[in-house]
Amino acid sequence: GFKSFCITKTFSLSVGNAQGFKKIYLKGGIKMNYKIAVVAGDGIGPEVMEQNILVLNEIGKKFGHTFEYTHVLGGGCAIDKYGEPLPQETIDICKASDSVLLGAVGGWQWDNLPGDKRPERALLGLRGALGLYANLRPATLHDALKDACPLKPELVADGVDIMVVRELTGGMYFGEKGRKQTDMGEAAYDVEQYSEKEVERITRKAFEIARKRKKHVTNVDKQNVLESSRLWRKVVEEVAKDYPEVTLEHMLVDNCAMQLVKDPAQFDVVLTENMFGDILSDEASMVTGSIGMLASASLNDTKFGLYEPSGGSAPDIAGKGIANPIATILSAAMMLRFSFDLDKEADAIENAVAAVLKDGYRTIDIMSEGKEQIGTAQMGDKICEYIK
Ligand code: NAD
Repeated sequence: GFKSFCITKTFSLSVGNAQGFKKIYLKGGIKMNYKIAVVAGDGIGPEVMEQNILVLNEIGKKFGHTFEYTHVLGGGCAIDKYGEPLPQETIDICKASDSVLLGAVGGWQWDNLPGDKRPERALLGLRGALGLYANLRPATLHDALKDACPLKPELVADGVDIMVVRELTGGMYFGEKGRKQTDMGEAAYDVEQYSEKEVERITRKAFEIARKRKKHVTNVDKQNVLESSRLWRKVVEEVAKDYPEVTLEHMLVDNCAMQLVKDPAQFDVVLTENMFGDILSDEASMVTGSIGMLASASLNDTKFGLYEPSGGSAPDIAGKGIANPIATILSAAMMLRFSFDLDKEADAIENAVAAVLKDGYRTIDIMSEGKEQIGTAQMGDKICEYIK
């Protein structure tokens, strides 16, 4: 019974003009049109992004949404065209969008540039400019890919479905750092510091996400040693009172590193600070077997997010049509779930991916005996077919 009105505008494939954006809503406040900034980037980025967009369009057709894409440059391709990895226009268009999809940046062509001119600056620059403080890294072991898991089969018999929620803009990576002279020679320091507000906002994100999952949060810290962890844990316990339906458990980081390879099925949402999260999310993700399967999201205080595969631009396989697009496609599913609250649509993508794998289709990175090897475009086609 809703009546919609649409304002559509076509954007060129180059950097567009941020003023061109208009918010479009269905009557009754239900949104149907979504503005997505697309930073396909370098290497395999554009190849996997092409399939991602085909999949999203299939979802749009099936569920009645319009996804409007603005392709912008970031990374090495922006260096080649504008002499800088993150042009201001790219930032402006990302800010004016509902979310950002990113492929990957980097490659050997730009490896000799100084640190602040390298393609990877585009990532850090975007995270900073967009205020993305919450990093979500799911580690899901698909039934069909249990063989690729480096753990013993009995350890993953119950499956693995972990969401690491990592604080991304605080802690030791951003604290005061420096050098000083001591009796033991030159010393260097990096200060680990967290404020109550920083802990509160990431904790709320973790609990909101847990509400949509198995309603279990494992808070990981080092409160037996670190003052910053003691404050962290106190704030987590306060925030948890607002989410009585979610179970909270605490775990010391060293124990968590062990538990992830001993009994990964015990985890649902893992909440932790920046450096612990950096390490634990890589460890958790390894149980899934391939980098081509790993999605990620970075969120700010609103529903806005940047979604990208965890892997890089894979220059060794770029242009060959063999890259696995699943990580990028699963990142788009996260976008539907976390930025747009389109849970059914996200489920449709995740179920299609699971079904394609179950039916034995594999890209080269997850290939095993008796399965059918297909390329990037065929994998995208198959996922679209299963969504239909
Ligand atoms: P990488 O993730 O690009 O590649 C590591 C290995 O994994 C390679 O053998 C590659 O072929 C494989 N691989 C990665 N993604 C794959 C996919 N979707 N399908 C199949 N195989 C896949 O890491 P790297 O080689 O260390 O870095 C290459 C470039 O990417 C560097 O310039 C690096 O700085 C950049 N990088 C970018 C990001 C990002 O954009 N977020 C992240 C990491 C690295």
